[in-house]
Amino acid sequence: MSVTVRVPAKVNVQLAVGAARPDGFHDLANVFLAVGLYDEVTVTPADELRVTCEGPDAGQVPLDGTNLAARAAIALAARRAIEPAVHLHIAKDIPVAGGMAGGSADGAGALLACDTLWGTGASRAELLSICAELGSDVPFSLVGGAALGVGRGERLTALETGGTFHWVFAMAGRGLSTPAVFREFDRLAEGRDIPAPVAAPDLLEALAKGDADALAATVSNDLQPAALSLFPELAATLDAGRAAGALAALVSGSGPTTAFLVRDPDSGAEVAEALRASGTCRTVRTATAPAPGASVVAPAPTPA
Ligand code: ATP
Repeated sequence: MSVTVRVPAKVNVQLAVGAARPDGFHDLANVFLAVGLYDEVTVTPADELRVTCEGPDAGQVPLDGTNLAARAAIALAARRAIEPAVHLHIAKDIPVAGGMAGGSADGAGALLACDTLWGTGASRAELLSICAELGSDVPFSLVGGAALGVGRGERLTALETGGTFHWVFAMAGRGLSTPAVFREFDRLAEGRDIPAPVAAPDLLEALAKGDADALAATVSNDLQPAALSLFPELAATLDAGRAAGALAALVSGSGPTTAFLVRDPDSGAEVAEALRASGTCRTVRTATAPAPGASVVAPAPTPA
């Protein structure tokens, strides 16, 4: 018997970053939106813990105990004093090191898959607490939809969304390390007064109304200057998407994936085509948001 869980990628429509704390982390006001690009994690009983991965970026995914899917299985097994004897297979469609929380998605997916396979019956609260131990973005991968994350981004409040948002994503030719982008943020911030991060009320209202124009006017990413500083070529990708009619163009999270909010699927197709023709990125994908969080897709869950 195997269990397969599907988990979405995310884009940050607001990423407000505070000054570095004494522990090195930053306080964030992070507005997450789950988008319809998915990894699938399949867990099958095995003699010992093993991770395999398929997909265009599979070669960049660690297959040892540092893989977030493996860490999730180990964390749940440790709480139940059982062996994490499973084969975790990741069908990877979310870009690796792309600022779309792909590793976090696999962590949340493996956790839900193992809980289902082992019948460990963890409550939502326990699953969320294990997710928060695994990483700041992991709780959001479990819940999906739209949410405000504060603290390191892991303390979540669900947000209302009033409609479907259409997005185009341009994947870059190489990745960016999230810690390196935060270090660059600190370097650029030296000597400046960094205000405490807060969610923008206009942005939350735009999400709640499903108003793409209002959302486009309010999206922001405090990590964007740091990502552009480390990866200056991204500016040309952002320009190409804007010139093709995107309502907003921004770096997704710590980058280097760039995200383009568009009015409708037709405009999305035009922006995607222009980005492909620009030669400034590796691949281009379209997706809608909000997407549901981690969910069991096989065996098909029995209706409640
Ligand atoms: P975030 O948006 O949460 O900052 P990201 O999307 O930029 O993350 P990930 O794809 O999560 O980046 O990968 C970051 C690093 O994490 C990878 O370079 C890899 O070494 C490691 N990693 C651990 N587990 C995984 C996994 N299951 N999939 C991909 N990368 C993983």
